[in-house]
Amino acid sequence: MTLIDGKQTAADIRLELKREVDSMLRQGMRPPHLAVVIVGHNPASETYVENKLKACREVGFLADKVALEADITEQQLLQTVERLNRDDEIDGFIVQLPLPDHISESRITQAIDWHKDVDGLHPHNVGLTALGQPSLVSATPKGIRELLSRYHIPTEGRHVVVVGRSNIVGKPMAMLLMQKPYLSLPKMSAAALGDATVTLCHSKTRNLKDICLTADILIVAVGQPALITADMVREGTVVIDVGINRIEDAVAPRGYRLVGDVDFKEVAPKCSYITPVPGGVGPMTIVSLLQNTLQARLNK
Ligand code: NAD
Repeated sequence: MTLIDGKQTAADIRLELKREVDSMLRQGMRPPHLAVVIVGHNPASETYVENKLKACREVGFLADKVALEADITEQQLLQTVERLNRDDEIDGFIVQLPLPDHISESRITQAIDWHKDVDGLHPHNVGLTALGQPSLVSATPKGIRELLSRYHIPTEGRHVVVVGRSNIVGKPMAMLLMQKPYLSLPKMSAAALGDATVTLCHSKTRNLKDICLTADILIVAVGQPALITADMVREGTVVIDVGINRIEDAVAPRGYRLVGDVDFKEVAPKCSYITPVPGGVGPMTIVSLLQNTLQARLNK
């Protein structure tokens, strides 16, 4: 069994991005510039936003935080989005989700200029992804595709079972891996992965166990600790665990620890490859955002 080290892979990619920025600076170009909008004071969101800004600055990107109070109106937030759409110095921006209940997340997401939509959530980018055309791809599935590529795990002709149908992970993951790869790319580049036979499972799927047992590659994004047990995985399967769940642990320094959706201890010995939680998919999500920001900068 090989452990897929997302932490190390993310560090390698950050180094590559830093080199790319250094080369841009040498050519007199402005570095990529990301803005992150945060509404309110949700502690988890504040941590995610700080981590994103820190990661940007570490690779030499410019990064701004736009912090707004939770009682801002939807109209005021739309005005902020419009201002960022028009700002030529900003290459990409995200509005950290979730938003307060009185603001429509879809209305805000759809107001973002899709060229600057580095979260890859705008219907235009989702549509391009569905059509198999170059697009800004949602960060987590993009990061998983990168992990498969860097660990030389082919997808062509293989049965990929994706569990979870969210708009940010499950659906775009299925779309990416079922596509014909873009033409004229090196075979194992991330964007060249595809050509898989994909089954998408969700909360109403019958016989989840039987379907998982037919997977060559099993990607799980549900949010339920130990949903995937050893009897659901056949020998040699590649398992990608996207779930991040807090479970109480009196001896852990914070009183909890993070686990995925896969019963790691029991499942890992059966796998050819598996991602740990933490340290697997999680670190890749932020570097994908950085890659998208660089792409938005270079697309200009
Ligand atoms: P979500 O929370 O929006 O939806 C969960 C999905 O799981 C739904 O599509 C539902 O149909 C499916 N589901 C629920 N119960 C099921 C069951 N018993 N069998 C099969 N399917 C079932 O999904 P999300 O936003 O993709 O998040 C999923 C998990 O991934 C969460 O733990 C989240 O924290 C984590 N996540 C991690 C990262 C990362 O960077 N590692 C990024 C995004 C999400």
